[in-house]
Amino acid sequence: MIAAQLLAYYFTELKDDKVKKIDKYLYAMRFSDETLMDIMKRFRRELGNGLGRDTNPTATVKMLPTFVRSIPDGSEKGDFIALDLGGSAFRILRVKVSHEKKQTVQMESQIYDTPEDIIHGSGTRLFDHVAECLGDFMEKQNIKDKKLSVGFTFSFPCAQTKLNEQICCTMDYDADIMAVVNDTVGTMMTCGFDDQRCEVGIIIGTGTNACYMEELRHIDLVEGDEGRMCINTEWGAFGDNGMLEDIRTEFDREIDRGSLNPGKQLPSQISLRHTISVKCIDSSNHLTCHIFPQCLATYCIFFSPEGLAKAKDILGRLGVEPSADDCVAVQHVCTIVSHRSANLLAATLGGILSRLKDNKGNPRLRTTVGIDGSLYKMHPQYARRLHKTVRRLVPESDVRFLLSESGSSKGAAMVTAVAYRLADQRRQITETLAEFRLTSDQLLEVKKRMRTEIQNGLGKKTHDSATIKMWPTYVLSTPDGSENGDFLALDLGGTNFRVLLVKIRSGKRRTVEMHNKIYAIPMEVMQGTGEELFDHIVQCISDFLDYMGMKNTRLPLGFTFSFPCRQTSLDVGILVTWTKGFKATDCEGEDVVGLLREGIKRREEFDLDVVAVVNDTVGTMMTCAYEEPTCEVGLIAGTGSNACYMEEMRNIEVVEGDVGRMCVNMEWGAFGDNGCLDDIRTEYDRAVDDFSLNLGKQRYEKMCSGMYLGEIVRNILIDLTKRGFLFRGQISETLKTRGIFETKFLSQIESDRLALLQVRSILQQLGLDSTCDDSIIVKEVCGTVSRRAAQLCGAGMAAVVDKIRENRGLNQMDITVGVDGTLYKLHPHFSGIMHQTVKELAPKCNVNFLLSEDGSGKGAALITAVGCRMREQKS
Ligand code: ADP
Ligand code: MG
Repeated sequence: MIAAQLLAYYFTELKDDKVKKIDKYLYAMRFSDETLMDIMKRFRRELGNGLGRDTNPTATVKMLPTFVRSIPDGSEKGDFIALDLGGSAFRILRVKVSHEKKQTVQMESQIYDTPEDIIHGSGTRLFDHVAECLGDFMEKQNIKDKKLSVGFTFSFPCAQTKLNEQICCTMDYDADIMAVVNDTVGTMMTCGFDDQRCEVGIIIGTGTNACYMEELRHIDLVEGDEGRMCINTEWGAFGDNGMLEDIRTEFDREIDRGSLNPGKQLPSQISLRHTISVKCIDSSNHLTCHIFPQCLATYCIFFSPEGLAKAKDILGRLGVEPSADDCVAVQHVCTIVSHRSANLLAATLGGILSRLKDNKGNPRLRTTVGIDGSLYKMHPQYARRLHKTVRRLVPESDVRFLLSESGSSKGAAMVTAVAYRLADQRRQITETLAEFRLTSDQLLEVKKRMRTEIQNGLGKKTHDSATIKMWPTYVLSTPDGSENGDFLALDLGGTNFRVLLVKIRSGKRRTVEMHNKIYAIPMEVMQGTGEELFDHIVQCISDFLDYMGMKNTRLPLGFTFSFPCRQTSLDVGILVTWTKGFKATDCEGEDVVGLLREGIKRREEFDLDVVAVVNDTVGTMMTCAYEEPTCEVGLIAGTGSNACYMEEMRNIEVVEGDVGRMCVNMEWGAFGDNGCLDDIRTEYDRAVDDFSLNLGKQRYEKMCSGMYLGEIVRNILIDLTKRGFLFRGQISETLKTRGIFETKFLSQIESDRLALLQVRSILQQLGLDSTCDDSIIVKEVCGTVSRRAAQLCGAGMAAVVDKIRENRGLNQMDITVGVDGTLYKLHPHFSGIMHQTVKELAPKCNVNFLLSEDGSGKGAALITAVGCRMREQKS
């Protein structure tokens, strides 16, 4: 239209030197790259305004969320209907996506007339018409009794709240409107079906508009910040706030004054509408007749090399008698106006691309842009110019431009297909994870069962068959501050083996000074012979004593040994069974203090006084109790899971005596080994158990502790992948590898500070090539598994504190739990969920959790100090 306007001017106003004079006006339509860069920047600012909560209401580029969250992944299937309203015709399409061998798409369509008065009439009438046509189509397709999913391409700006809330039309047949789709989105989805990298859709036709996949966390108007959503930019309105005044010409303004919506939709006028649906010149040289887009094919030749002849022909038909110069001028004008259009759209598209690049944080952007629209398709130079300019404006990008073949309606069907796939997938994933979501009633039941098992472990008659052994530790009191001396401590039973020298000083200023060294225990030693294991331990002690220069003193030693032990005194601990990663032979049934002493003897290098064997839970409790006297419970949430607490002697039936208290090492990890938790165990828990070193044992621990959480997650991921919900259905070698999913990755993935992209890069590091959608699901799986772990642990703890409260006949009790373990310390949600669960399940206890700083080593030294004191008292 702008060309026409210019030409009208040319033919009516200019008398001499026409081309030169018109050049003066055309000059203003040529943009330098600098100007285009500037326009690109302005557009990016407008994009930001449209997305922001505070800026959106007054923003010109509206950035409408479309609620389309995913592009096709090639696994869609089904029978869908698409309605396409908004272009020049109303089309209904039936799209069958099938899946034999290769994904194929079959389409049948019909075009319905939509009279002008309906288009411009009331909304109700329009939708009545749509419903009527759809009814007719379904009748003809013989599918009126089927319930098909319908996608609706609706190419006017419309603010969507949910995909299907857009329209409510009166229909006497059953159709499930899954999606309302803007034509730009339809184009992106159609192209996305062939090229999964496609994340931008643009229309360059009667009007112009674009959509792209934006990060949800940048879309203030939509809840949630994970994943992406397609944004319909409605970029046609760019400039409505005067932002493009400096580049508009008087011809643009002239046209604006005559348009249906003056001042609105500027760029499409500047760039497109006015170059295509051209007003032409009648015999009296006034603008009267319209050439509609249908005439485009002819009109385009205007711009082609053979255009001169065509120009003459067309001008002739319009009643103008052009000279040769006139024809040159006409061609000239058309070229410049269409170049300006391509340049402007390159700038706005460049704005979107540079934003995508920033969102991804990659130095280069590799992406595909899906395009539809007659101007782009038919104009002989338009596409080339657009591509070239985009590449100049965003040099750090590799952009593929993909022409949408069957246009926006197929896209609507694809959106529907994707929505359908996602809804179905979502349902199945939710169902799978539902097993892990424990209700308050289930958790209360777990607490109750824990209480029963505690009772069994303590009872004389029931102890032997009990699963939770409630081992006496012969630790009779928590520290009182009078402990004093230098002690050696060993810490064995977790990820690391440590040797420590602990110097405890009593008196007014109590101090504890520690020196320690960490030693690795190789897998072949953990699972070799007992002699090898203890020789290795003694070798490490020897190294440490050398390092400290203390080989000649016979230091008292506390041995933190974090496996279930039956103790008959402070310095006798018979290993009942190995747990976690250990499996050394000839140790089970043996006194580990004896094994250690023998090892020291074998080496004949130094001597030590082994005073106490200590469970890490007890060490943790003692360490915290040294600072906080109300601490009478110890908890470990690390590689394994276990707890201890001060029980009344009268309740510990396996030990003589009724006076005072003794710390019991619960060994609660074995909870459930009699099948009492089988109703809440899932197939994934069983799979983890099947491949463990201790089949059927430590069932509670296997649901709660760091060593196993990652494996549970991996097993769920394998299942979801098998069912086609993840990683495009491809189970990689990595995913098949046991142990790759360490619990520290759960912590990272679940961190709130982490954007989805970072989750993706963690998965990438693991060798799992994931999409955004994959990352959302993986994160959800991790969160579900660790939440259950924390809740189960909390349910156990609730049983313990409530038992202590009842022991003491209190209605309300304050108590402190000393905690150690990397899962508790470093997982972003474990501790919080656990605290919350204890609060809910044991409301009469006010439980304070205290993190143990270097618990087991210091605790072992404290227990050793107490042991030494007791020995002195005895002798
Ligand atoms: P242990 O229990 O072996 O004595 P820790 O308390 O340090 O020692 O626990 C180590 C365990 O904690 C590891 O086996 C692993 O399962 C888990 N873990 C390690 N890093 C993390 C982390 N960042 N977040 C959560 N758990 C972790
Ligand atoms: Mg530990």
